[in-house]
Parts: sequence; C-alpha cells; structure tokens
Amino acid sequence: MSALTSADLIKMFRALSERIEAEKGFLCELDGHIGDADHGIAMAQGFGAVARALDALDPAAISPTDVFNTAAKSFLNAVGASSGPLYATAFMRAGAAFKGKDAIAADEAPAIIEAMARGIQDRGKAEPGDKTMIDAWQPAAVAAAAGREAGKPAAEVFAAARKAAEEGAAATAGMVASKGRSSRLGERSLGHVDPGAASAAIVVAVMAESLAG
Ligand SMILES: [Mg+2]
Repeated sequence: MSALTSADLIKMFRALSERIEAEKGFLCELDGHIGDADHGIAMAQGFGAVARALDALDPAAISPTDVFNTAAKSFLNAVGASSGPLYATAFMRAGAAFKGKDAIAADEAPAIIEAMARGIQDRGKAEPGDKTMIDAWQPAAVAAAAGREAGKPAAEVFAAARKAAEEGAAATAGMVASKGRSSRLGERSLGHVDPGAASAAIVVAVMAESLAG
C-alpha cells in the first residue's frame, strides 16, 4: 500500500456513502427497537452530502486535511441528529492529524481511526459501556494504536481495528443504555445492538477495506 492521497480519501468517502445507503434500512430497523427508527436515514443523508460535496472538488487541488474538513462541514449541515456533530468532530480531528501533508503515509493511515474516535469521545462524552457508538470506536482506536505502534503493516492494523469495532458493536446488545435517547428505556434496551455502534462498525469496515487497498 502506498501513501494515501486526497483522491484515495475521496474514494473512501464515496464507498462509505454507497455502503451506508445500502445499510439504511437495516440501521433504521435497529433504531426502531430502541429509538425513533431514523438512524439509517440520518447517516445516509450525512454521507450522501459528503460524497456530493467531495465530487465537486478537484482532488489534485486539495489536501487530505481539506477532504476531511469538507466532509465535516457537509455532514454537519446535512444531519440534525446527534450523530451530526459527532462525525463532524471526528472528521475535523482526522484532518487536523495530517495538517500540512500532501499525502498520508501508509503506516500512519490507521491514525485516522484513532483521531476520529478521540473526536467522538471528546464531543459526546460517552464512556465505553454506555451503549453508544463509542463502544465500537474506542476498541477500534485501541487496536489501531496498538498495531501502528508495533509497526505492523497497515492492512493488518486496519483488519484488527475492523474486527474490534464489529465485536464492540455486537457487545452493545448486552448493555443497558445510559446515554442518549435510548437511555429512557433502561433495561428494555437490553438485547438490542445500539444503532450508532452498528453504523460505526460499518464505517470502520469500509474505511479498512478502502484504505488498506
Ligand atoms: Mg434515531
């Protein structure tokens, strides 16, 4: 895998938009168990807006930071739900992590996941175990950091982050919501995967597939 350019990141966001659109019904169904059944719609609107905004730009003329900042702005404008500011902050942090660079070195790419997770955690203030998207993002970031610091190949690090996010999302079925809208359900949220964690696992999976080549 060679260094990631702005064009590669735009391709990644296009893949995210397509996959989230395909999973829209599934995510709304999950949200229907513990929320208002709109999570898939919000996420599809957000990533759809990101893909359209990026399609209008010339990849050769913008930096990776510009790509993430454009993603942040368009996601925030398109999504009124709580996931709007959370993903906007995630993209801003990813952009800030690579400020001034024309491309992202392959072995540094998993740090995108780490920066996004930190942004979501700082903005949302949820802790692991609260049954939110953090239960997918946090383990993904831990796996990404561990692999990256151990000098493992990026493809391997992304695969580990993806697996951690998927396991983290699945584990939310056994949690009682204490943050966000579903917290009013208390024990009744047990047995259902958190939709925000489910979409987070999809996002990490698509990023892993796209960025690891
Ligand atoms: Mg909802």
